Amino acid sequence: MSGETLQVYFLGTAGALPTPTRTPPCIMIRRGSDTLLFDCGEGAQQQMMRARCGFAINAIFVTHWHADHFLGIFGLVQTMSFNGRTEPLTIYGPEWVHDFVRILRQVARFNLKFPMESVELGHGSWVRLDGYTVTAFSVSHGLPSLGYVLEEDPRPGRFDREGAIALGVPPGPLFGRLQRGETIMAGTGTDRHEVRPEQVMGVRRPGRKIVYTGDTRAIHTQILDIAHDADLLIHDATYDESEAARAAEFYHATAAQAGEAATALNARTLVLIHTSSRYTDPQAHVSDAKARFSGPILVPNDLEMIEVAFRD
Ligand SMILES: [Zn+2]
Ligand SMILES: [Zn+2]
Repeated sequence: MSGETLQVYFLGTAGALPTPTRTPPCIMIRRGSDTLLFDCGEGAQQQMMRARCGFAINAIFVTHWHADHFLGIFGLVQTMSFNGRTEPLTIYGPEWVHDFVRILRQVARFNLKFPMESVELGHGSWVRLDGYTVTAFSVSHGLPSLGYVLEEDPRPGRFDREGAIALGVPPGPLFGRLQRGETIMAGTGTDRHEVRPEQVMGVRRPGRKIVYTGDTRAIHTQILDIAHDADLLIHDATYDESEAARAAEFYHATAAQAGEAATALNARTLVLIHTSSRYTDPQAHVSDAKARFSGPILVPNDLEMIEVAFRD
């Protein structure tokens, strides 16, 4: 459906170490009745309580197996089981996801009341969901690591109401059939004729697109084909420009590199997360990124929510 709400909750925005005000990475995306988690750092379930968004998670997509991105799964799964969940839960991730889920089952001696599955993803592999797709892409983080693109299906073009009336289609149910792609019959008697949807429907319009890089060095040229034109680019911005050498050494990006990526990928809005705990005011990262990207730039606080709107 094209009219679904699309909300992004920044439940955790910290870098490798939590701070008194920032929790390790956890991004919840809600689209219509679907709820997905992208990473699930320590403390995620309490952040979900604070955000009052419930535990009805359909799937968890993990970017990589550094502890700040997955430790929250242990507690969350136990709470779900305690709450009587019976629906299956799928955990998607790069290489070692099967090992992770096996270990999770082994150490979780509690009686898990719902099935848990693991699905390994690689560069270009995708998961088809209801009206949208999540596609994985490889990033550069020194171990198997993925970023994710959530992209909605294209929407139908605009309906040319006046054009339809001029072709003899009366306003009413026939409009709906044309909008759904059916060829219909209009007019009466000798004037009875076919009207095809392409005569009255404009070109299909893109759906919304969110890109989450997870932890990575600057990689935008390698992902141009997969991550271009995002409405929201959520990018690693662990370091500021003075620590560019350290960023490269530890496979992270600077805020300026995130800005460069946003420009190269033609993103609409840039979100900087995973800022290192050494920065007491990560808002300073905004000026670094601004030098490379002219669109809106945000450094969300934990529990902030962004609603993604259509471009037109
Ligand atoms: Zn991390
Ligand atoms: Zn990492």
